[in-house]
Amino acid sequence: MMYLYNTLTRKIEKFVPLNPPKVTLYTCGPTVYDYPHIGNIRSFTNNDFLKRTLIYFGYQVTHVMNITDVGHLTGDNDSGEDKLEKGARSTGKTVWDVARYYTDYFFSVLKKMNILPADFFPKATEHIKEIIDLIKKLEDKGYVYQTPEALYFDVSRFKTYGQLSSQKISEKISGAREEVYIDPHKKNPADFALWFKKVGRFKNHQMHWPSPWGDGFPGWHIECSVMSMKYLGSTIDIHAGGIDHIPIHHENEIAQSEAASGQKFVRFWFHNQFLLVDNQKMSKSLGNYYTLDDLQKKGIEPMALRLLFLQSHYRQIMNFTWQSVKAAQEAYNNLKNFVLTLKKQKERTSLSQEKMAKINNFLSQFEEALGNDLQTPKALAVMWSMIKSNIPSTDKLDLLFTFDRVFGLRLNEITEEEIPETVINLAKEREKARKTADFKKADRLREKINQLGYRVEDSNQGYIIKKNN
Ligand code: AMP
Ligand code: ZN
Repeated sequence: MMYLYNTLTRKIEKFVPLNPPKVTLYTCGPTVYDYPHIGNIRSFTNNDFLKRTLIYFGYQVTHVMNITDVGHLTGDNDSGEDKLEKGARSTGKTVWDVARYYTDYFFSVLKKMNILPADFFPKATEHIKEIIDLIKKLEDKGYVYQTPEALYFDVSRFKTYGQLSSQKISEKISGAREEVYIDPHKKNPADFALWFKKVGRFKNHQMHWPSPWGDGFPGWHIECSVMSMKYLGSTIDIHAGGIDHIPIHHENEIAQSEAASGQKFVRFWFHNQFLLVDNQKMSKSLGNYYTLDDLQKKGIEPMALRLLFLQSHYRQIMNFTWQSVKAAQEAYNNLKNFVLTLKKQKERTSLSQEKMAKINNFLSQFEEALGNDLQTPKALAVMWSMIKSNIPSTDKLDLLFTFDRVFGLRLNEITEEEIPETVINLAKEREKARKTADFKKADRLREKINQLGYRVEDSNQGYIIKKNN
């Protein structure tokens, strides 16, 4: 049984999909103009915890994640320039090259983070026809007006506009700063662009297509409505994204989709909180960001970052520190050691009633934590106490692998590195020496092992040999 917080109703609700056991899931994807930072990665990883939990509970998930390769301006509310064109200008490449490069890079990040791939990764540039068709439909229904520069969705025509963020149109500020551009012909600051014409500030835009309203390119929000409805149907079960998308992007998606289809667009809205650095949002514009490569250069594995993300609930703000990510790396090392040690202790000791009850208890605690709005920190705590418990090693390993279907920490891929015979024998001798309290000899042997480029680490589960980095 799953309960999820729904931004639309501001309540934790029992999750029942429209057509069980099928679940339709749409997660807003990346704008492929730069390297994703670990704040973006937190969002994508949290969505993956959600998807894996749904699969764990037996749902058949169809997942769409769009790739925004055109039309996302530097301001979400139609201000600034196109992020991709900006990226191209600063690198001297074409927009198409920029998009291709960062799309490939994004996929490599998904792989490194062990994020399950979506069933569909539609690109905005490959759906221009569908985008134009949807705008035409909105135009026929009277939701659209045109200025010399763009086509806008008239939010005053959509009576429930603002329902997701509970903002009234009159309260909507356009976030106007001096450098922000506002079309003087726009009727209402909350109206948003469906199509930009290749005129004025966009005269030199590299990406453009013919349309009934002249050459141009789509606004950012329309692609998500198009792709969600095309691949998943008019009404979907869950739509996910970062909390920054609530007031503009997702509000606009609802307006466009529901105005066009006359149906409810999304049943559950799932929003991720931010990753902060020094208590400020990690972002490109503030320059206070780190990438996965920055972390790897400091010896932090992607799986340690994944473990760090699990330690915070998705609706909780998380403050990034090097200290916490290093601690997560150590915890991940311990976890790997446990797995290796448990694998060696394959023997199944007899299972008492009491131990059997414990095993079932760990499993139900784990499921309860995840079923209760994805309490990953609690689920992790269950894992650590299970590891420390006295249940048989084989059952520990089984439970770890079961838990890892949601955690996704690649625990079943952990293997012992090839260690030379001589080192193994030295370690065995050292263990013998330790057991007979001949610590001098044990230290001497440890030193020898070190000289061969290896080290022995002791844990209460036994010793582990590791290659020095
Ligand atoms: P973008 O590629 O800029 O469209 O962003 C991708 C995703 O990352 C969006 O869902 C954003 O909400 C999310 N995001 C951006 N900054 C952060 C942050 N500091 N912490 C968590 N998520 C973020
Ligand atoms: Zn979106």
